Amino acid sequence: MMLDKIIDQLESLDQTELRILYNHIGSALPPSVVYQHKPSKCGCKKCKEGGPGHGKYWYAYFSYDGKTHCVYIGKEKREIDPIYELELREYQWRKKDGVL
Ligand SMILES: [Zn+2]
Repeated sequence: MMLDKIIDQLESLDQTELRILYNHIGSALPPSVVYQHKPSKCGCKKCKEGGPGHGKYWYAYFSYDGKTHCVYIGKEKREIDPIYELELREYQWRKKDGVL
């Protein structure tokens, strides 16, 4: 199988080559998403005084293009598609700026 051969050959690569390969693989794969269930803090009096916050709410974190992104999900957990979320966000920004 081809994958076995590739894995065998990895041993002959140096650190720099492995890094380049890693970046290639990273751009071919969708980002992996980490889900967190946590309270949200707002600007209200209770939160400012160190209260427990509101919620809890679900958030999704993922890295893409060297940046970490956070997507607010809400009370009900749902799986997100990170690339779709980024495209949606960009679309909303453009709409707000009057580009669209
Ligand atoms: Zn609050």
